[in-house]
Amino acid sequence: MSTYRVAQVTAPNGTFELVEREMPQPGSGQVRIAVDACGICHSDALFVSGGLPGVSFPEVPGHEIAGRIEELGQGVLERGWQVGDRVAVGWFGGSCGHCRPCREGDFIVCRNLKVPGWAYDGGFGEKVIAPVDALARIPDGLAASDAGPMACAGVTTYNGLRRSSARPGDLVAVLGLGGLGHLGVQYAVAMGFETVGIARGPEKADFAKQLGAHHYVDSTSGTPVAEALQSLGGAKAVLATAGNSEAITATVDGLAHRGELVVIGADTEPLGITPVQLLMSGRVLRGHPSGTAQDVEDTMAFSALHGIRPMTEHVPLERADEAYRKMLSGKARFRMVLTGG
Ligand SMILES: [Zn+2]
Ligand SMILES: [Zn+2]
Repeated sequence: MSTYRVAQVTAPNGTFELVEREMPQPGSGQVRIAVDACGICHSDALFVSGGLPGVSFPEVPGHEIAGRIEELGQGVLERGWQVGDRVAVGWFGGSCGHCRPCREGDFIVCRNLKVPGWAYDGGFGEKVIAPVDALARIPDGLAASDAGPMACAGVTTYNGLRRSSARPGDLVAVLGLGGLGHLGVQYAVAMGFETVGIARGPEKADFAKQLGAHHYVDSTSGTPVAEALQSLGGAKAVLATAGNSEAITATVDGLAHRGELVVIGADTEPLGITPVQLLMSGRVLRGHPSGTAQDVEDTMAFSALHGIRPMTEHVPLERADEAYRKMLSGKARFRMVLTGG
């Protein structure tokens, strides 16, 4: 009997342990993926903590998966996939196909979205069984450890920017320079925006410039962030990657007329925005949910074209617990990626 290994937690906020499992066979419309890399996203904590309805234990998180198709279930070959194809699976781990958003063709807001680690075991393991509609083809030249983070952190920032109302030449600010923001700045620059990086502390200025940002705003400098943005002409869009409601709120008055605040950083605290701040200049506040498998594919193609890569720290699957804690602690400056799954 062949087996494979996963890193799982058996109780809410438990320690990751490596266990052997029996090799699963892909069902109809599914593939088995040999996992080469899996990024660790802050959202994995939602599952590990058991904080979301429907999360069951033992829990195997991981929705920044990159690997190779190893086995095809029934009906998969007809849909253009073959053994050996390099694929990524992200937050969009498949949709139900029958809810109202799906019937409208808006799959990313599917009411029964199949997020890996929630709907099925995620990428903290050597194998993953995934539905075929979750698969995004990895372009040649993009390493698995770079492709994984593109399937959540990458697509969320890339899509958030390309679906915003900003056009090339417009001033666009990226709030936060962490796992999401460091990609957001690179995408914004490559899309032709006059790009502002916003973060805490003067020491991040060099990093923002290194990512290609044209301007840097230090939110701790004493000058309000909104004022700093207005002195640059006002932002057509702010991509809020920092999961901090106070920091997000502080950017609103920095938006230009008809400017758009695109929220992708998660926080449960309320935003402190008054209707008046939105009304007079026709500003828009919008939540942005990740992207579909096609969006992930677009993100990876754009990244390959422009030489955009996530900054990653690689840790073997055996040390999943250590890597996860480092992500939680905020001490991981960049994306933690499990490798050698
Ligand atoms: Zn994620
Ligand atoms: Zn659906």
